[in-house]
Amino acid sequence: MERAYHLWNPFTDLEEFLPYKDVGPMTIVRGEGPFVYNEAGKKFINASGSLWNVAVGHGREELADIAFEQMKKLCYSSCFRQTHPKACELADCLCALTGNYYDKAYLGSNGSEAVETALKLTRQFFRQSKAEEKRGKYKILSFKGCYHGVSYGAIGLSGDEINEKLYAPLPGGLLQVEPPYSYHGAYGTKDQAECELKCLEEIQRVIEREGPDTMAAFIAEPVMGERGIITISDSFFDTLMELLDRYDMLMIADEVTTGFGRTGELFATDRWRKRPDILCLGKGISSGYLPVSAVLATKEVYENFKGEDHYFQHGSTSSGNPVCSAVALGNIDIILRENLVENSRKTGEYLMGKIRSLMEERPVLGEVRGRGLMIGMELVKDRVSREPLSESEMFEIVADCASLGVIVYYNRNVIALFPPLIITKDIADHIYSALKTALDTGQKEEILKKKRLLKELVTSKLRTANS
Ligand code: PMP
Repeated sequence: MERAYHLWNPFTDLEEFLPYKDVGPMTIVRGEGPFVYNEAGKKFINASGSLWNVAVGHGREELADIAFEQMKKLCYSSCFRQTHPKACELADCLCALTGNYYDKAYLGSNGSEAVETALKLTRQFFRQSKAEEKRGKYKILSFKGCYHGVSYGAIGLSGDEINEKLYAPLPGGLLQVEPPYSYHGAYGTKDQAECELKCLEEIQRVIEREGPDTMAAFIAEPVMGERGIITISDSFFDTLMELLDRYDMLMIADEVTTGFGRTGELFATDRWRKRPDILCLGKGISSGYLPVSAVLATKEVYENFKGEDHYFQHGSTSSGNPVCSAVALGNIDIILRENLVENSRKTGEYLMGKIRSLMEERPVLGEVRGRGLMIGMELVKDRVSREPLSESEMFEIVADCASLGVIVYYNRNVIALFPPLIITKDIADHIYSALKTALDTGQKEEILKKKRLLKELVTSKLRTANS
């Protein structure tokens, strides 16, 4: 099938819809376990987990049956001033997964909605605080270049020049600090511990500069996904939360990507000394079978929403959709029943170990980092300058992987692996082999050199023949 003319693909240059070399347009028509198939019948390992979300793999009949049964019974019912069992069950299940550290779960449809909800929740929380001196807190801090979704609040959080250029004016009161990305020498150091320390100092400086009585929250991903699988230590977040406590600020963790076993823990924040006040969830919550997201809040947060006219002024039609909720419950059950969190940790360690061992023979690998089955490979022209590979060089490598039957994700100069959490060592080996071949950029240069020589030879022969 030709690319559909009328479909306006997200984040896609429709004029440059590059067909993957040797593979053709990526029209995916079928999925089974960790594999997807394109229209021509070619089989791929879905090493990007589609958009990082297909945790339990494709083609789970069990989830299709749940959706079918729930649709027949009650396809839809709202949660506005009424309720239904599936939304209640999902909310209970999510809070229970944190040992009921969280007391309330708001249900939504996607990660952007979860983040937007968390931002509004934060502002309303402070605006109706019992303590008058806290009512002026509205500013939210985040890491520059972070990705929290596509809504106005979410793009405002990113501090990204492109968003500013294209969509300004962005919402006010959203401020950024550089993330502790030591690989590229943030805060003038390539040492991660020092980088994190300086970042914490910067956060405190910004809070003091802006005025603590205006500062509401910090939002961050435990491992920054889109920004390049940037791993940040748990102790950084522990210290950050102590700092936020001192300034009466909330911590919002965006676990849309890291949640539900992706990093080898059920939630990446399980490893923090204290859980964040607000937790955003998406992606793995339903493995993409249906759109679902959630925002969890503690009892302390909910406290400010009690009382006359204090309830949360927020909600969308699909909030707590019964079919979506039922499927999310089924999906979470699979994750727990099949020990996919443990598999993510073990297979993740195995795969990352193998890729790290490639560093010696593949100088293009600048750094390999990640946690569980969330693995990033920073590709560079050389390891001293750490100059990133160009967009076209990256695309070549990604296209080579596709030709070799492995779909990987990339952003800027980082290849990201987010395979379904069900993958075996055998599948991990296949992913590794494809990467080993595709990352052989030296070999590619050799081939190009040979092609160039061949072309020169043919041209000169033609010239001789013509003269
Ligand atoms: N937060 C994070 C950390 C994400 O990675 C994403 C999506 N990649 C989002 C939020 C937005 O989620 P969605 O695309 O479902 O709106």
